[in-house]
Amino acid sequence: MAELKILEEKTEREEVSMDDALREILEDPRSPDGLKQCMQCATCVAGCPAARLYDDFNPRMMMRDIYEGKLEELLDGEGIWRCGQCFTCHARCPRGNSPANVVLILRRLAVLRGYAKDGKHNECAKLRDVAPLVACNLYGKGNNLSPYRVPLPLAEEFGPEVTAIWMNMGDLRKKVGYDPKETRKAALPEKTIKEVQKLLDLTGFKDFIEKDIGVKLEMA
Ligand code: SF4
Ligand code: SF4
Repeated sequence: MAELKILEEKTEREEVSMDDALREILEDPRSPDGLKQCMQCATCVAGCPAARLYDDFNPRMMMRDIYEGKLEELLDGEGIWRCGQCFTCHARCPRGNSPANVVLILRRLAVLRGYAKDGKHNECAKLRDVAPLVACNLYGKGNNLSPYRVPLPLAEEFGPEVTAIWMNMGDLRKKVGYDPKETRKAALPEKTIKEVQKLLDLTGFKDFIEKDIGVKLEMA
């Protein structure tokens, strides 16, 4: 598995080369299948809520722009901030691509290389608003958001694997030490939470959130 790299925060906009971006995408553990030669079939677009709402973004166009080397336009534009991270494209792409994860990688590059500063991108600003809550929950409790907030029909949209997880959620939660029903309270043993924190320290999550995003991780 590729090493997680934490880039230094840039105060000035820094040019990102195509090689740079491709390396980020191909080495990132979130996109194990890389780009796998997108065939522009638009299956991802058919289920993409962001594409329905916005003219300046759809996952097929984003993949095409990467192949065409239009990186500056992607990082500088609002498009990559339109994606709602529903992962429908990830579940449906016949080539095993994950536009949803590519969006995350491009957003990370945009933030860290100075392309998404000063609240220019509204969605970026919103993400910064929710970041403290999500990050503190994850670091302090080993928990993130309530999976029961995702209704079954929506889970089915993500494909058979997610549906199977949804159907067995209670048992799976019990197995790792969570209360099967109560998703807001941390039921993880102290030792497990410490292990989660160690993982988040080792992978650079804590440094990234505190230094690059500017959120102090406090124990909730
Ligand atoms: S990312 Fe996948 S689903 Fe989307 S256009 Fe490319 S091959 Fe088709
Ligand atoms: S995750 Fe994929 S399908 Fe969902 S909004 Fe983003 S690009 Fe569209």
